Amino acid sequence: MKRMRSKVILVTGGAGFIGSHLIDRLIEKNRVICVDNLSTGSCKNIEHLMDNKNFLFIEHDVKKPLKLDEKVDEIYHLASRASPIDFEKFPVDILLTNSLGTYNMLELARRDRAKFLFASTSEVYGDPEKHPQSENYWGNVNSIGMRSCYDESKRFGESLVSSYQRKFKLSTKIARIFNTYGSRMRADDGRVIPNFITQSLNNENVTIYGEGKQTRSFCHVNDMVDGLTKLMSSKSAGPVNIGNPSEIKILDLAKLIKRMTDSKSEIVFERMPENDPLRRKPDIEKARKELNWKPLTDLEPGLKITIDWFRKSC
Ligand code: NAD
Ligand code: UDP
Repeated sequence: MKRMRSKVILVTGGAGFIGSHLIDRLIEKNRVICVDNLSTGSCKNIEHLMDNKNFLFIEHDVKKPLKLDEKVDEIYHLASRASPIDFEKFPVDILLTNSLGTYNMLELARRDRAKFLFASTSEVYGDPEKHPQSENYWGNVNSIGMRSCYDESKRFGESLVSSYQRKFKLSTKIARIFNTYGSRMRADDGRVIPNFITQSLNNENVTIYGEGKQTRSFCHVNDMVDGLTKLMSSKSAGPVNIGNPSEIKILDLAKLIKRMTDSKSEIVFERMPENDPLRRKPDIEKARKELNWKPLTDLEPGLKITIDWFRKSC
């Protein structure tokens, strides 16, 4: 029997949190090229792959065109800062990474007729007036607010990807990723789960922004990787919500993490950031139907793995 040629897969943002877990999955059967400028990613996340002959790391900023000799079969385009604390510090970089960077990677896909998956976000729904959010909701985004560099550039990215699909008949996919957590998140990333875990482990104040009545729905990274790979191999172009629909108030999340870490921390209340979405929960019916996907990891077991990892690594 003839053996199938393994695919060549490019992962941008592959030294980051989700990207490095995705590569761990893809490398089992494929050759993987990881492109990352290490702005928020880290070599630590991929150091275990460096001796693998099917792995290549290229330090590169996707804002610049990428010259690759090798032909690629698939591109997972994840490169982008994703933490709200970076929206204030690096707005122009975020805007250009998701616009120019996405354009450069789409041009590469066009050259090779590669399948292209864009890591979009639940932030395209902004501060949603519809709950839960389904893919046919167009969103409520403040185009000049503090979060707009991220929200609007991801929306532009979705538009660019859709245009390449229509104009050049490229096989493209849009994943709308909802809040994801797990090992390899940066301790100083500023996002809520690493903040609450590190604060609790160090018995420091656990910082709630606002009154903690806002909600999020947290998806474990293993489920996210399943969803992304299923989307790539499906016929679906998306956009598809990938996230865990189990919703929790931020105050309840703080209490849960405090209890799970047996922490002596106090919960304190700080200023709520501008345009912070009040509620967020994905409607995942489309992912169930088109990808045969649903998350399998509940919040507590997922947090336990993540807390154990932070205990060992930070
Ligand atoms: P991350 O910061 O850990 O990973 C992003 C990676 O992209 C990093 O390794 C960073 O160095 C790299 N990068 C950033 N700008 C780049 C550039 N110009 N050129 C090359 N590399 C660049 O974040 P993450 O949580 O792993 O997010 C990955 C993707 O998923 C992002 O596109 C993000 O917008 C999307 N997303 C994540 C979440 C989440 O909850 N984690 C939610 C929605 C969407
Ligand atoms: N948050 C908080 N304390 C923190 C960090 C975040 O209360 O130390 C809140 C934040 O205001 C938001 C929610 O937790 O309402 C999720 O924040 P995160 O930055 O993780 O992601 P977002 O969904 O806002 O992009």
